[in-house]
Amino acid sequence: MAYPIFVEAIVGWYQLHKRDLPWRNTNDPYQIWLSEIILQQTRVIQGKPYYEKFVSAYPTVKDLAQAPEDEVLRLWQGLGYYSRARNLHATAKYITYECNEQFPTTYEALLKLKGVGKYTAAAIASFAFKEPVAVLDGNVFRVLARYFGIETDISSPKGSKVFGELSQSLIPQDIPDSYNQAIMEFGALQCTPQKPNCMYCPLAEGCEAFRTGRQAVLPVKQKKIKVKKRYIRYYLFNHKENFLLKKRSKDDIWGGLYDFYAVEATSAENLQKAIAQEDFLQQQKNNLLFRKESKQYTHILTHQKLYVVFQAVEVVDREYFEQEVPSQYTFFSWTAVSDLPKPILIAKYLNNYQL
Ligand code: SF4
Repeated sequence: MAYPIFVEAIVGWYQLHKRDLPWRNTNDPYQIWLSEIILQQTRVIQGKPYYEKFVSAYPTVKDLAQAPEDEVLRLWQGLGYYSRARNLHATAKYITYECNEQFPTTYEALLKLKGVGKYTAAAIASFAFKEPVAVLDGNVFRVLARYFGIETDISSPKGSKVFGELSQSLIPQDIPDSYNQAIMEFGALQCTPQKPNCMYCPLAEGCEAFRTGRQAVLPVKQKKIKVKKRYIRYYLFNHKENFLLKKRSKDDIWGGLYDFYAVEATSAENLQKAIAQEDFLQQQKNNLLFRKESKQYTHILTHQKLYVVFQAVEVVDREYFEQEVPSQYTFFSWTAVSDLPKPILIAKYLNNYQL
């Protein structure tokens, strides 16, 4: 079958240059879905070992559905965006118990799954079921914007429409899976955000950005992400070899994971004020022995920058302490703490913590 030059060049390039990634060797929708959820906001090199761990621990969607949530979060630890792990688990349960272990087989039906957006639904539908629906991720936006010289803001509703229609018009009906993989891989390896390899590019001849020297300005993206700063002081309360933690509520960045007692503010100055006004700390002050304070850790998330200091504190009278501490906190043995799912920042701190 003859394809337009753009498609021909991209698919040809892919055959020669594609990376051998484990999820490319399967058409099992469960494994493809797993890889897509893991790779959201995560680089391939970082996501690959997680994918391997998950496939090995849970070879089928039913195995994942039957796993305890803490175990799933523990395996996910370090990937961030923990709502993805919780959605993954909830969706596995849904497919196992409500859909008789059968993955939906169409783009429209896949879209209804929790945590599955347009991109993921298109990826699963095309890779597993060869449905000709185009994927549209950052790599695809970049390749299309540059090659066709499109200046529409990719983060605007108009951008979604223009690029959505264009990408859908290009997808070959008989090889939607290879084409979708190919254009994303091309964006990831060849037409990269900085320093695209235009000198050795099979698309250079017809590429508008190359012809007009606009590689650095395309694609156009105007929306700026506002980064929120958070200053946190964690208190690692211990009594003998027991440590106080709580499970975080599910609607925040680390929902479902365990962390320590914390005081938080939006600036370093306000944090000092907040600590001075923290009733529980004031009320317990004669019952606490302040031990080592950590260095300041800086932790960067997409929309947040965290400045975190850990303070180790020994509790003298546990009974008195437990009468006053908020009820969501529990003392755990050191071994139990190691097994709990925790934000990677906490795990890092505990790795250096000396009992
Ligand atoms: S010529 Fe350069 S900008 Fe154009 S598609 Fe190739 S790598 Fe991208």
